[in-house]
Amino acid sequence: MSNIWSEAIQGLQPRLGAQTYDLWIRPLELRQVQGQRLLLTAPNRFMKEWFENHYRDVVLDELRARTAQDFHIEIQISAAAEASPNAAPAPAESQTTPEPAPPLPPLPALPPIGLSSRYRFSNFIKGSSNELAASAAWSVAQEPGARFNPFFIYGGVGLGKTHLLHAIGHHIHVARPHLRIVYQSAERFMNEFISAVRFNQFDQFRARYRQDCDVLLIDDIQFIAGRDRTMDEFFHVFNALYEAEKQIVVTADRMPGDMQGMEDRLISRLNWGLVADIKAPDLETRVAILKQKADIDRIDLPDDVALHLATHVRSNVRELEGSLVRVSTFASLKNQPLTREFVSEALGVSSAPAQAAPISIESVQKVVASHFSVRIADLKGPRRHQGISRPRMIAMYLSRQLTGASFPEIGLRFGGKDHSTVINACKRIESIQSEDSELRETVAALRQLLAHEPTHAASLPS
Ligand code: ADP
Ligand code: MG
Repeated sequence: MSNIWSEAIQGLQPRLGAQTYDLWIRPLELRQVQGQRLLLTAPNRFMKEWFENHYRDVVLDELRARTAQDFHIEIQISAAAEASPNAAPAPAESQTTPEPAPPLPPLPALPPIGLSSRYRFSNFIKGSSNELAASAAWSVAQEPGARFNPFFIYGGVGLGKTHLLHAIGHHIHVARPHLRIVYQSAERFMNEFISAVRFNQFDQFRARYRQDCDVLLIDDIQFIAGRDRTMDEFFHVFNALYEAEKQIVVTADRMPGDMQGMEDRLISRLNWGLVADIKAPDLETRVAILKQKADIDRIDLPDDVALHLATHVRSNVRELEGSLVRVSTFASLKNQPLTREFVSEALGVSSAPAQAAPISIESVQKVVASHFSVRIADLKGPRRHQGISRPRMIAMYLSRQLTGASFPEIGLRFGGKDHSTVINACKRIESIQSEDSELRETVAALRQLLAHEPTHAASLPS
């Protein structure tokens, strides 16, 4: 295998360029091979994460192309680096004695393939926005296959779906090590399926997902909507596992019935068990999440600063955590304490109650898209499905109301639509609002959100 590995990465060298190769690929060392799992070490956390975010998929594709097999890459930080986590550059006094690197300790028992050890129940903050999903996830983890099957979690980007899915996997793995857990994104499920078909390895694929699987965790199932053969295959996997009373957990960015292009029979099955949503966290939950993140990353975060940050970054948890990391990095670069004033300046928001800043069409699109869990591209696109055309009309209406842009300009910014489309959208929304109190409230809430939408992070180095 080590031959295949070195051939594969060397094969990538021309494509990646020598500099990239030397910097990011060469320093990784292949330490162990367990079936299709490759265990590598990286000199430090930064290099590990950089590789994972930028090159892992390229390398996996290369390996697949060469062997017609799917591999998994797991990376640990090499022992020498772990021993002195803060001393990345070698201290000067070590120059005289170039000690050989100490031998690596035996690798610890690994969690199931693909599960990140960062995502546990113990560090998932519960709040009203995620209560049902989190409690149900816990109960599924306690008694897989017994209560909520399938368990379907949905919600917008960065709200903790993947976190809960991994937490379920870890918990089951620890409590019932004999159970075979398969975690996969729907996208990789599809890719595996395609290569199984292509390389005539369908038996292996079938074994992995049907016979050798006790718990199936599938992330972002919306990805396979509209991909007929993959949906069909997933349908059979689902049936086989369900009949055998194996636990199935699925996440998506929207409810089963709202996934366009998803087969009806699959939608119906996904609705068989428990469907739980995760909403954007409220202020208290956001503060709690920030404080936990600060604790883990050893960032000194005073209460009033946490509150201030949580007030201004409300879209999702990923951005919330990202903004904390950025402001604290920024503060330490500038050698300044993390205060309300510093955060305000860094985020480009006032530390006084929010002033009415000019609202842009983009921010209207962003807020509306995230509220309805649709893509901005869909708002700008031609699709007429109600799940999209309604948010699109609302976004046009709010653009007209809040930005002062003309009808033709709004049309242009929504993918080049005619101004009459915009005029009609505005009329429609006005007339529906007059009789539909729910829509009225939604529009009011979106206005509120936009009024407070910070121009966050725009001025930060990222
Ligand atoms: P999604 O899959 O819904 O897009 P993730 O699960 O990837 O979102 O979450 C994004 C980030 O936010 C992760 O780092 C995750 O750990 C963190 N996160 C989300 N929700 C919570 C929560 N309730 N408590 C702690 N961290 C959370
Ligand atoms: Mg996710």
